[in-house]
Amino acid sequence: MSEQHTETGPRVVIVTGGSRGLGAGIVRSYLDSGDLVATCARSRTAEVDGWESEAPDRFLFVPADLSKVEDCEVFVKAVVERWGRVDVLINNAGVARDGILGLFSDEDIDTVVDLNLKGTIYMTRLVGRRMLARRSGSIVNISSIVGRSGYRGLAVYSATKAAMDGMTRAMARELGTRGITVNAIAPGYLRTEMSHGLDEDQLQQIVRRTPAGRLGEPDDIARVCQFLTDPAGSYLTGQVLVVDGGLTG
Ligand code: NAP
Repeated sequence: MSEQHTETGPRVVIVTGGSRGLGAGIVRSYLDSGDLVATCARSRTAEVDGWESEAPDRFLFVPADLSKVEDCEVFVKAVVERWGRVDVLINNAGVARDGILGLFSDEDIDTVVDLNLKGTIYMTRLVGRRMLARRSGSIVNISSIVGRSGYRGLAVYSATKAAMDGMTRAMARELGTRGITVNAIAPGYLRTEMSHGLDEDQLQQIVRRTPAGRLGEPDDIARVCQFLTDPAGSYLTGQVLVVDGGLTG
């Protein structure tokens, strides 16, 4: 079960949008490595209830809509009040809206940009300040391969992910001299609620084109988060790691 980080003690880890899908896989992984894990989402899920009973001293859930700066502040404040610091920030919460740009509504543009881009910026600003004061920490942004490759019907989503990659490189420069690493992971297609918009034919086509011969699982990405946030990995920063089973390689 729990394996404590003997050299440094448990880390304080924030995973945004950890109530289901990829975020839930990342929460599970850091709970399994003995860390103190906080997550947020707009609604609770059975997974959240389960972690609260399983690890009441090591798990914190805060309801928050991260597209609102006030909610980001409430979330980070709750974590710092509980555990005093943040060692790891995984900016995972994200939303996709499908459709060709010409037919996209203003509301859908705002939903995607406000969470994927502005929410990530708000959280990085809030947590980055605290990491700067302590001169340590790691940040991982969950991007997407479509930030580089593009995808028909995902123009706004792709734009936010490409922006996230740029921000990753800029923040690595801004925070690197203070012992803080900033990296991104660009997953391929994962088996989560977000990919439910793809029909069975599209999914099979993706699997056929993927050298690994399958869709990604949350665990594939969680393992890379662990690698990027290992305290021994301080020389790896400013990178966008593509984790897509070879699809775009
Ligand atoms: P998901 O299953 O839809 O889960 C999204 C999570 O974010 C949920 O916990 C959701 O909870 C939370 N969330 C959504 N809107 C929020 C808001 N306004 N404020 C706070 N939390 C919010 O998505 P996923 O597939 O796990 O995706 C996770 C990340 O991986 C995203 O950044 C996505 O872009 C990226 N990604 C996914 C894929 C894929 O194929 N699935 C591929 C590449 C990259 P609530 O709805 O209750 O708020």
